[in-house]
Amino acid sequence: MRPYILAETNYKTTRDQQYDLAILPWGATEAHNYHLPYSADTIEADRISAESARVAWEKGAKVIVLPTIPFGVNTGQYDIKLDINMYPSTQMIVLKDIIEVLNRQGINKLVVLNCHGGNDFRQILRELGVRFPDMFLCQVNFYQVLDRKDYFDEDGDHADDTDHGDRHHQLDNGEPGTLPHGRFLPDRSTTTGDRGSAPIAGDAAHDCLTFMIGTNPENQRPN
Ligand SMILES: [Zn+2]
Repeated sequence: MRPYILAETNYKTTRDQQYDLAILPWGATEAHNYHLPYSADTIEADRISAESARVAWEKGAKVIVLPTIPFGVNTGQYDIKLDINMYPSTQMIVLKDIIEVLNRQGINKLVVLNCHGGNDFRQILRELGVRFPDMFLCQVNFYQVLDRKDYFDEDGDHADDTDHGDRHHQLDNGEPGTLPHGRFLPDRSTTTGDRGSAPIAGDAAHDCLTFMIGTNPENQRPN
């Protein structure tokens, strides 16, 4: 049982545990050509958030990974069989309810770890940031944090080399939550805060998470 994964832990563990930062992994349910599963984005969101949280937790960060949202925006593929579209307006309602809980319970930082290109939470988080002024909200797009050209021979888009390398590796890897090659742990974090769009420089996604909860003294929150 990993204490930083809400879906695995229990109330005995969480009751007296202080959490500073919640991570909300967000995927999609959509076709990925003929060879990758509909859950590919959701698998990525699960694994990358879990591994990032593990690194942060072991550095002393009080982080909790919420259950992954499996439905994303698929308005561009509405004709693809069993692509399950969730509209941005619905995502806003989901986010508002989750943020309301976190805000009420004093968990004042939320990272949405987005693993689907059709999702974009910036505007939603900007709006909710005004409504919940005590919350620090940001999104991290996993596919923007590394230059894929440094890792893959063939550039592309959906269900491409990046998807292959990542997902095949994850699916073949028997240890949940581990990415031993580490190449999908980003070294340039792109985050969008609720108080503007200033990028936050970081070494990796886990550094971003560490930054968010303030255990890395080199990183200060931008104004
Ligand atoms: Zn996708």
